[in-house]
Amino acid sequence: MNHFERRDGELFAEGVALRTIADEVGTPTYIYSAATLTRHFTVFDAAWGDIDHTVCYAVKALSNLSVLALLARLGAGFDIVSSGELRRVLAAGGVPSKVVFSGVGKTRDEMREALSVGIKCFNVESEAELHELSEVATELGAVAPVSLRVNPDVDPKTHPYIATGLRESKFGVPWQRAPALYAKAAALPGLKVVGVDCHIGSQLSELAPVLAAMAKLLELVDQLTADGHRIQHLDIGGGLGITYQDETPPTPAAYAKAVMGALGDRQLEIVTEPGRVIAGNAGVLLMRCIRTKDNGEREFVVVDAGMNDAIRPALYGAWHTLEAVVVAPEPPRRVDVVGPVCESGDFFAKQRDLPPIVAGDLLVMRSAGAYGFVMASQYNSRPRPAEVLVNGDRYDVVRRRESYEDLVRGEIIVETPEA
Ligand SMILES: *Cc1c(COP(=O)(O)O)cnc(C)c1O
Repeated sequence: MNHFERRDGELFAEGVALRTIADEVGTPTYIYSAATLTRHFTVFDAAWGDIDHTVCYAVKALSNLSVLALLARLGAGFDIVSSGELRRVLAAGGVPSKVVFSGVGKTRDEMREALSVGIKCFNVESEAELHELSEVATELGAVAPVSLRVNPDVDPKTHPYIATGLRESKFGVPWQRAPALYAKAAALPGLKVVGVDCHIGSQLSELAPVLAAMAKLLELVDQLTADGHRIQHLDIGGGLGITYQDETPPTPAAYAKAVMGALGDRQLEIVTEPGRVIAGNAGVLLMRCIRTKDNGEREFVVVDAGMNDAIRPALYGAWHTLEAVVVAPEPPRRVDVVGPVCESGDFFAKQRDLPPIVAGDLLVMRSAGAYGFVMASQYNSRPRPAEVLVNGDRYDVVRRRESYEDLVRGEIIVETPEA
């Protein structure tokens, strides 16, 4: 559930009319609901009952400092994939001892930084990374806690760009090779084996792939335990899907129940890395219609947000609900909703039935909290949108709209020889 609802036909975020935000902050603007973020996190966390667990919110889904601070206050840990994300977590008051570090391309500098603040675990993705991490830790006189990210070779039945657990994927190590790599890790001076990790993909809408992965992971945990490793936690990654259109993903409770059922009586801490399920439906992108256009073949609603602001439709062919903030009573029209960017891929919806929309009308793209602002760019020299966090009857701009000065920050005009 979320807190974007209509009152007398007009769309609100909690107690704040979206129209008010549009008038005062402008458009396009990302709007997040603190109540929805809180609800999603607490429901996900509570799903694990009293078994030992850490919910490490995947920072890459939505990384605004105010959002991270809200989650940190609720007791969240964090899954990071870069030093930049680590710095965000620390700035927002996150606890380093609840941070796990994922990603195939951690640099030595990033390893050093994470070691120096004392994170919970490095999710290591290759043998070469094991050796480098051990060297870096030894240089610092530290010991790096590690899990290997194991690739269980299961099909998560999701979009190919967000499927990560297949054999041909760049992520993780093949599960058949994991026992030998764990033996190497245990023999390296700068490492301490603490867990097993996996993340099979994103927007998972069925439990079967999760259970298939669990079966392989637990087989591995049992073998590693028999080999003499002390496996303290099992990190099952993130990936639980949300409803964008008509998907019916498992609830956090059903997901947790299935995982805990597979776990049996093994004494393992469960670590999770949910991103989308926490942030996705906690945000919308508010935009305004610039003008409409009819080319004889199709009717277009041209809006002031584009693929640079919200790339999921262009990148993944993703379907997002679009709604008018105030719905006109006339029958719907079939339109394409497109942005101002000079690319044919710059559309939010094609041949969608929407109530008649005219220049100046406000629209929202729903389910835009995750992989929305974080993937925004300045393509076409468009300043990135503002971000707003609503909390009850108040709202705060938690990232101001970029200015034209922001667009050229760091750029230098050099003298070039005259022709
Ligand atoms: C992207 C990612 C996540 C979060 O995925 P969601 O689908 O947003 O839950 C978690 N762990 C890793 C390693 C990831 O790459």
